[in-house]
Amino acid sequence: MKKTLLKSAYDPEEFRKRGHQLVDELANHLAQSISGKPKKVLDWKLPEEERDYWNDFLENGEEDTLFTETLKHSIHVHHPKYVGHQVTAPAPITALTGMVSALMNNGMAVYEMGMASTAMERIVTGELCKKLGYNADSRGFLTSGGTLANLTALLAARKAKVAEDIWTKGHTDSLGIIVSEEAHYCADRAARIMGLGDKGIIKIPATVDFKMDTSLLDETLENAKLNGITVFAIIGSAPSTATGMYDDLEAISSFSKKHNLWFHVDGAHGGAAIFSEKYSYTLKGIENADSVVIDGHKMMMMPAITTALLFKDGAHSYSTFSQKADYLLGASEGEDWYNLAKRTFECTKTMMSLHWFTMFKTYGEGIFDEYVTNLYDLGRDFAEIIQKDPQFELALAPDSNIVCFRFKPHGISNDDLNTLNIKIRQQLLEDGEFYLVQTTLKKIFYLRTTIMNPFTTIDHLTALLEKIKTMGNSI
Ligand SMILES: *Cc1c(COP(=O)(O)O)cnc(C)c1O
Repeated sequence: MKKTLLKSAYDPEEFRKRGHQLVDELANHLAQSISGKPKKVLDWKLPEEERDYWNDFLENGEEDTLFTETLKHSIHVHHPKYVGHQVTAPAPITALTGMVSALMNNGMAVYEMGMASTAMERIVTGELCKKLGYNADSRGFLTSGGTLANLTALLAARKAKVAEDIWTKGHTDSLGIIVSEEAHYCADRAARIMGLGDKGIIKIPATVDFKMDTSLLDETLENAKLNGITVFAIIGSAPSTATGMYDDLEAISSFSKKHNLWFHVDGAHGGAAIFSEKYSYTLKGIENADSVVIDGHKMMMMPAITTALLFKDGAHSYSTFSQKADYLLGASEGEDWYNLAKRTFECTKTMMSLHWFTMFKTYGEGIFDEYVTNLYDLGRDFAEIIQKDPQFELALAPDSNIVCFRFKPHGISNDDLNTLNIKIRQQLLEDGEFYLVQTTLKKIFYLRTTIMNPFTTIDHLTALLEKIKTMGNSI
């Protein structure tokens, strides 16, 4: 019995047949989604209802409808009316590289478990370092997501800047990092994982345009010192998640230099603007960062999840995890760039470099320029039409493709406006024609859009505003 099951599971002809069918189905889905014709981006259901559906499917569903049903019950990021969270509509070729990675399953921890993808990883991270303006001594690697990459960067920072041997002895001193209050929550989480506690996460208030108020840095550092906290790192957001505003990386860089702090740039979302001729100015100063994070699955058109972590001084990319695991990591002379598990939190990881390498090889870096520039342009155009419409309020002029606004008809109090916009967001979710999200800025509830799809046009966005008006006026 078992043998029959295994034989069927590994049957190459079965794989070929299903694979061809599936690629056809996915290509049809893609064509439909991109056309924007399907009435819904998301056919929203209550979580319990969805769980019941799949419980029933496991018992009674037709096996050959499994993938079709999965598509139907998932959000469609290639639909031009998807303007929600910051995951990209992946370039279809990266679905194919994902398939190669899944079937080959090269585990990447040591060189021979991923020869091609290890070499590719060295090459693509080298290209990214060059693009940042780093020199030949810089190095990087790929890891599973911005959250993990930010933690890894902070661990490297602590190793580099704190004199105690924390890896061996644990830490006794009070340590701290400086971030903007607008930084992604993963910075806070990373600091807590590292044992920094409440006191060690020193938050700088944001300016009116939601950037780190760098005029407060010196005073804040002084205060931390007086409280016995040794600050070792500062993080600039490029941009921050909620509003998409870029911190002043040049100011943060000078400050970090003056005080010998590690300067980390969280460019998970917008580090990719380094490829945009028009918008690379947003990252001025990034060339001085000790480390930089860029997500492939946000503004670089790749599937979740793949993140580049780049170090100005490549030596730091080796020193973070000097834990012994000799069975994997044979002692070697010279630079051991090809045994990746020495440098990443993960042991096994996917062949994620294949996405990056394939994008560079197939389209060249110009595709990232087009992608980022178009979407950032569209963010500005969208903001302009919001601003011109008296029934809407723009939260702030956007730096990127993240645009926050609210429906604001005349004569309604702030509290009522919050309630109204919360209702609008919920109705939009349940309606499913568009998908957007929300954020609260200084106690005001805003609708939040991230324009991630190169097929979204100003017409789709205008239609979204019309829909919100209709909904808002009938609540
Ligand atoms: C999305 C984001 C993260 C988290 O990255 P994941 O890849 O989702 O783990 C961190 N920082 C910023 C600024 C982000 O936008």
